[in-house]
Amino acid sequence: MSTKSGHFIKTAIDKDLASGARQCVVTRFPPEPNGYLHIGHAKSICLNFGLAEEYASQVPAHCNLRFDDTNPEKEEQSYVDSIKADIQWLGFQWQEPVHFASDYFDHLYDFALQLIDKGLAYVCSLSPEQSREYRGTLTEPGTNSPFREREISENRELFERMRAGEFAEGEHVLRAKIDMASPNMNMRDPILYRIRYAEHHQTGDQWCIYPMYDFTHGLSDAIEGVTHSLCTLEFEDHRPLYNWLIDNVSAPGTPQQIEFARLNLNYTITSKRKLKQLVDAGTVTGWDDPRLPTLAAMRRRGYTPASIRQFCESVGISKAGSVVDVGMLEHAVREDLDRNAPRAMCVLDPVRLVLSNFSQEEPEILSLPNHPKDESLGHRDVPLTREIYIDRADFAELAPPKWKRLAPEHPVRLRGAYVITLERFEKDSAGNIDTIYCRYDPDTLGKNPEGYKAKGVIHWVSATHSVPAEVRLYDRLFKVESPDADKGVDFTEHLNPDSLTIRAQARAEQSLQHAAAESKFQFEREGYFCIDRYDSSAEHLVFNRVVSLRDGWAKVQKGGGK
Ligand code: ATP
Ligand code: MG
Repeated sequence: MSTKSGHFIKTAIDKDLASGARQCVVTRFPPEPNGYLHIGHAKSICLNFGLAEEYASQVPAHCNLRFDDTNPEKEEQSYVDSIKADIQWLGFQWQEPVHFASDYFDHLYDFALQLIDKGLAYVCSLSPEQSREYRGTLTEPGTNSPFREREISENRELFERMRAGEFAEGEHVLRAKIDMASPNMNMRDPILYRIRYAEHHQTGDQWCIYPMYDFTHGLSDAIEGVTHSLCTLEFEDHRPLYNWLIDNVSAPGTPQQIEFARLNLNYTITSKRKLKQLVDAGTVTGWDDPRLPTLAAMRRRGYTPASIRQFCESVGISKAGSVVDVGMLEHAVREDLDRNAPRAMCVLDPVRLVLSNFSQEEPEILSLPNHPKDESLGHRDVPLTREIYIDRADFAELAPPKWKRLAPEHPVRLRGAYVITLERFEKDSAGNIDTIYCRYDPDTLGKNPEGYKAKGVIHWVSATHSVPAEVRLYDRLFKVESPDADKGVDFTEHLNPDSLTIRAQARAEQSLQHAAAESKFQFEREGYFCIDRYDSSAEHLVFNRVVSLRDGWAKVQKGGGK
């Protein structure tokens, strides 16, 4: 189904292979283990792993997974574990072993010494505030640090003492000696190393100086033999530094950085920092709360790997940043589940209905197809009994215009069963419908005899042969298209208070009771649902709504507007 399309990065790789500049393709996916992966990362994963898979038929090609773990205070082993699980769930496999930038700390330290020895790095002892002042602004050049001309031997000694733990945090940093007047702020003697007395999830307390991200990232690419280092556009201004570092140390490789536009989705936050804020504040139940755009949450909600990959493919790769309609993502999962998810019936807001002329004690077993178009999904038995449940919303005491559900003078068909006609109904003391009485016509199974005016079809379950279920209906987490666009307003102000509605009294077909965790179904007339992988059990079924049936995106595509 996915149509592999061409894009400018492939063009660049093709050119490198054709000219002989490269004989292999090595990409990498380089997360910082400081949160869970989200849908934006999926784009980068599909690109990096996808290219390696694609080129492997022509030349040696692989994709590394490397954790850029230079910030121990914000990182955790649990994030490392979740990132690995999410990549595999998406259907990709890295070249073993998993890499960590921290594997290269010795190597990076040597590169730093090389720069010092060449007079290209110095230990700077300005305070953080002073450094900011010396840095200049976008319109004014910076000023040279008074420590810029330190002797090489002094720099070396101080840097070695930094490593030995002789100084306090913030007392010294190691900086590259490039150009304080550069219009590119990243080239104004950027910091390469800082002192941090922090325990690291991989290296423990072995180090008290940690390399900065920019220093680490490109040189780690070079150490790994990465040929094409693909990153998002905000790193374009870092490319001169990326190249400067590789040019000035004895780097074992010459990776080429190529930037592409990051994925932005409307109604969605794709910043790990902000997602973490929601998790820490308890606004959502955790990193895998099905309302979040993390891959763990999307998996739990019922998104399929194929639908996410298809979505990333259809978004495409370009240099132009844009905001993608979240409807496009929903469209991808709807298409996948429409094709592959078996049908079932579940009544979310049940009201009792008695078939007054259904006199047999035993249920009548109906055999219903699991899929309207795909015979291979087989049939299931659905018991019809004298008492059934229908959805409260499918009955009206007085039919409004164009009503196609049950009401006086409005017979309907029970899905897969008979046409029923209203006799009467009873209300409880609060004035709500308590029980509806209907007659069913035994001649209408699978056919509509002359003169029948059943305009609609409604879903139902047996009252005595169904199982209770909790159904969680998810809506968008934010009410506005760009929750973090407004600088004056905190993004949490835009949270949708109705992002979760729980139907605790739902009733599902008996056949669902022992369905496996994460199974997905189309509940007739309701949408696509997934068995919650954590909270559901045979005694207490819990379904998450993946997506509703209505497809706004398909309409947009057909030019019908939303
Ligand atoms: P965040 O801003 O959410 O913290 P990040 O970019 O800092 O994200 P990393 O762990 O550094 O997160 O990301 C790993 C890789 O995923 C990087 O190469 C990054 O460019 C890419 N990536 C992150 N967000 C997106 C996005 N929205 N679209 C495409 N690629 C992304
Ligand atoms: Mg990053």
